[in-house]
Amino acid sequence: MLAKLKAGNANFVARFSFVNVHSDSSYNYYDQIIRSGKDQHPMACVLTCMDSRVPPEIIFDEGIGNLFVLRVAGNIQDDDILGSIEYAVAEKNIKLIVVMGHTNCGAIAAAFGNVDSSAKELYELIAHVKRAKVPNDQPPYNATAKNNVALTMEDILQHSSTVKKKYDDKELMLVGALYNVSNGKVSWKDLDW
Ligand SMILES: [Zn+2]
Repeated sequence: MLAKLKAGNANFVARFSFVNVHSDSSYNYYDQIIRSGKDQHPMACVLTCMDSRVPPEIIFDEGIGNLFVLRVAGNIQDDDILGSIEYAVAEKNIKLIVVMGHTNCGAIAAAFGNVDSSAKELYELIAHVKRAKVPNDQPPYNATAKNNVALTMEDILQHSSTVKKKYDDKELMLVGALYNVSNGKVSWKDLDW
């Protein structure tokens, strides 16, 4: 499954590398809708940022029905995110969770600035992200983005015994990733970031 995501991202990058050539998409959304209409069997769950440039279904070349996708600014873990992950793991037998940050993340940059505390929920969200700050990190703060992914992965394992048990029993992979908004490439924690 991880290999399929890697291959999908390679397809995605290759597709737009042909400048000014519109290659045929391998997607057939109609078929995907017909196939998934009665039930869904996604192969992985991706937690990533709300950033408009980071749509997992597109950047992994997966289309409709193949990925559970959770998106929240700064790809943090909270109770509702974790509940959704537990649904994916316990009810839908998902065996791969990807936590994916990205370059030039606004939530990460905000952690290095001042957020108006009158926007209470935003203030608390950025406070959550601030835990990941790498000292002396410089714009675009990609070292902090990576650390934030690692902390979210730790949070998931720490707060969900369901996920932790399957992870410890090697029934579940939990991997970190960083998406580059400038070139479309995903790099992988412990492999190539
Ligand atoms: Zn972001």
